[in-house]
Amino acid sequence: MEDCIFCKIAAHEIPSTVVYEDDLVIAFDDLNPQAPVHTLVIPKGHYADIVDGVPGEVLAAMAHAVSEVARIKGLSDGFRVISNTGAAAGQTVMHFHMHVLGGTDLGENLL
Ligand code: 5GP
Ligand code: ZN
Repeated sequence: MEDCIFCKIAAHEIPSTVVYEDDLVIAFDDLNPQAPVHTLVIPKGHYADIVDGVPGEVLAAMAHAVSEVARIKGLSDGFRVISNTGAAAGQTVMHFHMHVLGGTDLGENLL
């Protein structure tokens, strides 16, 4: 989609620190990390959020990418996956993404 920053990252038109990539998804480090490890997993196709008719094949590819990020980043002690959906959740980039957070004790606040 035109003017979507994550579509541009998926197409390698905007640089990012890529952690994992396959035909359907790409994972890259967040520009403004909220934890020692903060990587975003996105589908290469444009979907606004997790409830925007994302095909099961793409959801499976994203789950696989999350496990690859955890392995590559050494998150064997655990990690958190968050997908902000819509205004009330504070979603700022309207291209479906999963935050993978870890590398520290994340505590028990908000889940
Ligand atoms: P949201 O608030 O929509 O759940 O998360 C969007 C995330 O995208 C934020 O954590 C923000 O730091 C990240 N972000 C926004 N623009 C860019 C960018 O151009 N490059 C990277 N790597 N991350 C970005
Ligand atoms: Zn997009």
